[in-house]
Amino acid sequence: MSHSHDHSHSHSHDHSHPHDDSHYDRHHDHVHPHHPGHVARRTPPHGSPVLDRRTAIRTGAVGLGAILLAACSSNTTGTAAATTAVASSGTAPEPASTTADGLAGFDAFADTVAAFTSGEVWMVECNSLPTHPMMVGITNWQQQVPIPQDYTGDNAWRFPITPELADEPISARTGLFRGAIALAVNGVPIFNALNNRGDDAFLAGELDEFGGHCGRADDYHYHTAPLHLQEAVGEGNPIAYALDGFAIYGSTEPDGRPVEDLDEYNGHVGAEGTYHYHGTSSYPYINGGLVGVVQATDQVEPQPTTPAIRNAGEPLPGATITSFEDLGDNSYRLEFEMDGAIGSTDYTVTDTTVDFVFTTPDGQVTTETYSR
Ligand SMILES: [Zn+2]
Ligand SMILES: [Zn+2]
Repeated sequence: MSHSHDHSHSHSHDHSHPHDDSHYDRHHDHVHPHHPGHVARRTPPHGSPVLDRRTAIRTGAVGLGAILLAACSSNTTGTAAATTAVASSGTAPEPASTTADGLAGFDAFADTVAAFTSGEVWMVECNSLPTHPMMVGITNWQQQVPIPQDYTGDNAWRFPITPELADEPISARTGLFRGAIALAVNGVPIFNALNNRGDDAFLAGELDEFGGHCGRADDYHYHTAPLHLQEAVGEGNPIAYALDGFAIYGSTEPDGRPVEDLDEYNGHVGAEGTYHYHGTSSYPYINGGLVGVVQATDQVEPQPTTPAIRNAGEPLPGATITSFEDLGDNSYRLEFEMDGAIGSTDYTVTDTTVDFVFTTPDGQVTTETYSR
């Protein structure tokens, strides 16, 4: 069986923004974020480079995965009022440090991620795919897979070269549920740590061992801080930048000292007098909002679009993703285990198509081709 969808078709059935993160939104019609007090917390092993959900389960954060489909999400177009934060006077932090090669942190990934200035913004071009394995460990899977995204040209990421503190920060506890709020220096977008139902995406089993997964456009992104990038960027360099332009550092201060006194947005003014955020291994994990001046509705604008190439996937209860391989030549293989048997999704990406071969755990094979 084979069929294809063009972009206009794949968008005609819903009213969500093409770059939202609505893994479940076809069945829901409102946003109902939980109060942050409802967000389970956990304390993973200090310094652990990757996430360990078993720790969360041992500490009592079990059961969230079972309620996923009962939650809600997805606003309708036109309900979010545009707000523009205004810079406060008297605060003029320095921009994040730059190097001759570009922007600190990003230069460690210069082979795959291009950062350059254009007017008053940094532009970052990338395809969103990291070099580390993706998807492994996800127990709450919507059958999406990582497909390279065209974040180039007008569809590049952008954030201010000179961030300014806003009079009214925007909290990620009550907003910013659509689109990215930050960009990791390896070119992977970072979304709100709460999914669009207000649940902690990590504790819900939606994320792989690096804190990432794919949205409905098969777009790979993180929902937690990429603390694993600390080693690649080296001491003193950011692991990500929030879309307000403020840098996000890892588990230590830029000068190597321990992190202290983070505000509710996971940030503070550093020793050098500049505001910055930190990644943490418990909620809010990443910037808990945007303290800098941004243009935002329920998502920061402008930001790249991620056109969906196919209809949103259905949940596959009982499946655990067990491996992901980049086979070269733009071919990939994802395997999952279900009831003791292995199923797989093999796919090859070309400039214009994605060819899929789906194999169910009981051996049924289906091929599908979608245009992109
Ligand atoms: Zn997501
Ligand atoms: Zn700091």
